[in-house]
Amino acid sequence: KEDQWEVDPEELTLGQELGSGQFGLVLDGTWRERKVAVKMIREGCMSDEDFKEEARVMMRLSHGRLVQLYGVCTQQSPMCLVFEFMENGSLSDYLRDRRGRLSPELMLVMCLDVSEGMAYLESSFFIHRDLAARNCLVSKNNEVKVSDFGMTRFVLDDQYTSSQCSKFPVKWSAPEVIKYCKFSSKSDVWAFGVLMWEVYNEGRLPYENRTNAEVVESLNAGLRLLKPRLAPDDVYLLMEWCWKEKPDDRPSFAHLLHQLASLSNL
Ligand code: ADP
Repeated sequence: KEDQWEVDPEELTLGQELGSGQFGLVLDGTWRERKVAVKMIREGCMSDEDFKEEARVMMRLSHGRLVQLYGVCTQQSPMCLVFEFMENGSLSDYLRDRRGRLSPELMLVMCLDVSEGMAYLESSFFIHRDLAARNCLVSKNNEVKVSDFGMTRFVLDDQYTSSQCSKFPVKWSAPEVIKYCKFSSKSDVWAFGVLMWEVYNEGRLPYENRTNAEVVESLNAGLRLLKPRLAPDDVYLLMEWCWKEKPDDRPSFAHLLHQLASLSNL
């Protein structure tokens, strides 16, 4: 069928506001007896035509550790995107709200969940480009899933798209991304190392009191984020491996998944 990704607005019921992000408001809702999250795309902040092309690819990505895109509603303005509903919200808020109450064992499982989703994206040759705790969501069973994969390509705000600019996620970016905008699964691996650091620091922001320029300078000098108090040595070794200067020296997600699984004795 041709328009499989098109959601019929008649079948969609909108509810309460869940939050807002880069593209506008996010509402909860119901679609075909399922609870969903609906992103209402604000006028002028997304390259719609490019996104519609890509939505077909994104809808084919399907894995238990990815937040599923169910479909898009493009007939009306604003356009909206319909996603799997994640009861426990973003991973960064989840971690902050539970400070002092999460065990390092649970933190390891969260990292393992994300590595599973990312290993699937890697094997699908799909680059996330903006992996961070704020772009992962937590289900009602406390499983962590990867969200917002590939979406930064459709942001029209210049402040977000150039590494020189204020909203660019420099603190999660590999050196080759900062220097040449060279994204790859290996630059996702760098970001995953920072995400692990966020998890073991209970949702604290990396390089909290430093500007982007200062972060770039310390990375160039070979410095890296310090070991979180709650992180075991073997977990910090994995983080440091993700932050190797050369992309080829970093592990793959397949390998990280394997390592994290053996650390968690699953
Ligand atoms: P954007 O992609 O536009 O930047 P976000 O993904 O950051 O938007 O979403 C903003 C907020 O909406 C999140 O912090 C979260 O609280 C909520 N949200 C987004 N997607 C979902 C979802 N699938 N299920 C539940 N809540 C969600």
